[in-house]
Amino acid sequence: MVSIKEISKFQDKKYTNHSIAFFPSLAVVSLTQDSKNQMEPTVEKGDYVQEGQIIARNCLNLSDKENCKFPAFIHSPVPGKVLDIYNVINPNGKKLPAILIKMEGVFSFSGKKRETLNWTYSQGNSRIKTLSQMGVINTFEKSVSLANQLNEIIKQKEKNINFITPPLVIRLFDNDPDTVIDKYISDNFAKEVFEGAAILAGILETKDIIFISDKNSWNLPDEAEIKKYLKDIKVHLLETNIDFYPRGQYKYIKQKTLQYLKSKEINKYSEIFAVDSPTCLDSYNAIAKSYPAIDKFIQIEGDDIATSGIFKIRIGTTFRSIFEECGGFIKEPAKIIINGLISGIAISDLDTPITKYVKSIFVLSSRGFPDQRQTSCVRCGRCHNICPENLHPEKIYSNYYSDTPVKEYILNTINLCTECGLCNAICPSRIPLYQTINLIKGINDEQKL
Ligand code: SF4
Ligand code: SF4
Repeated sequence: MVSIKEISKFQDKKYTNHSIAFFPSLAVVSLTQDSKNQMEPTVEKGDYVQEGQIIARNCLNLSDKENCKFPAFIHSPVPGKVLDIYNVINPNGKKLPAILIKMEGVFSFSGKKRETLNWTYSQGNSRIKTLSQMGVINTFEKSVSLANQLNEIIKQKEKNINFITPPLVIRLFDNDPDTVIDKYISDNFAKEVFEGAAILAGILETKDIIFISDKNSWNLPDEAEIKKYLKDIKVHLLETNIDFYPRGQYKYIKQKTLQYLKSKEINKYSEIFAVDSPTCLDSYNAIAKSYPAIDKFIQIEGDDIATSGIFKIRIGTTFRSIFEECGGFIKEPAKIIINGLISGIAISDLDTPITKYVKSIFVLSSRGFPDQRQTSCVRCGRCHNICPENLHPEKIYSNYYSDTPVKEYILNTINLCTECGLCNAICPSRIPLYQTINLIKGINDEQKL
C-alpha cells in the first residue's frame, strides 16, 4: 500500500457545487456504454428522436446473449434527427459504432419538474426491469449493466436454496486518489444515494447494507427515515482510512466489509455486492423519478485547462465541446487522461464522446511529468516491489511479448491483479505493464469461453 500523498497530484481538490454543461448540438452516442456489451440500435439514419427516447436496447454480442438478459438500454440525450451511425473512437480507445444526433425540436423533460414516485410498493422484478430500461450502469469497478448483475444474484438464489444473499455495500469515496466524483455525489445527494441503496437492497432482499466512507465524512439518515425505507434490513456505517492506495477496489472493500461484519458477530457472508454512490443516485433517478441515464457528473481537472470543476454533462457530448466550455487549453496539453492518473486511460482524439463510464478527465501539462516515451526495462524491480499482490509485472510483460506462448502459471497469476495501476505509475521506463496484463486477461477470458 502506498500513501496517497506520494502518488496523488490533485488530492486536495474539494468542490461544493457543479455546473450544468451545454447540451451538445451534435450528440455522438456510443453503442457501447459499458465495458462489455455493444447494443443494437433501434433507430435509423433520418429518424427523429425525442429527448430520453430509447435508441438502442439489445446486446449484439451473440455469444453472451444468455448473460445479457437485462442490458442497460441507451437513450437519446437530446431531441433531434439521426444523421448517421458510424464508427468513432470511444474513451476506452476502441473504434466502435455510435449514433450521431443533430439536436433540434422540443425537450421532453429538461427544465420540467419531475414527480417523485412512491417506489416502496414496487416489486423486485419490476425494479430490475426498470433499471435495465433506464440504462443504469454499475460504475463501481468495471462498468456493467446493474440490472443484469442483480438478476445474476436472483438466479443463483432461485437455483440454490442454501444460497446466502450477499450484503449490499455502497462505497461513498473514489477509488482513484485524484477523482472526487463519488465523494461529491455522496455529500451532495446523500438522501438520493440512501434511497437508491434502499431500492437495490429491496431487490436483493439482503439482510445487511453497509455504507463505507472516509472517517467522519458521512452520516446515516435518522432512525425514522431508515425504518421507512429499510424496515428489517440492518444498516451499518463503516468508516475507514482512505489515505492509502489501493483502497476502493472490490478486493479491499470486500476485505474491510467482512472484517467489520465479523467484529459485529455477523459471520455468514463470504461475498458482497458492491456499488458506488453514482450508481445509487442513478438507481434512485430511474425508479423514483423515471429519469433515464442520459447525463453524468464528471470532474474536469488539470493545469492546462482554463476552468476546472464538476460538470453535469449529457452522454454523447464530445471532449472537444467540453473543453471549449471550460475556456479551452491554456497550453497544448501533454496528456488527457480519463478516470484517474494511476490506472486511467489516455485519450488522443478530442472527438471522443462521453460515455456512462467516464468519471473524471485530467488535462495535464508536461510540467512535473517525466519523459513519457517508453524505453527498455532496466530491471530495477520497482514494479514488483510496489505491487500489492506481489506479482512480477515485468516478467508478465516480457513473456507476453516474447515468441513463446504465454505460460500457464502467468495466466493464473494475472487473475490476482486488482488493476490498481501502481506498477505503471512507478516504472521509470514507462512500460505499459498494467495494460498488458489487461490484454492477457482478455485472452484468458476468450480461452475460457
Ligand atoms: S500487477 Fe496489477 S495489482 Fe500489481 S501493481 Fe500492477 S496493476 Fe497493481
Ligand atoms: S519498473 Fe519498469 S523498468 Fe523497473 S523492472 Fe519493472 S518494468 Fe522494468
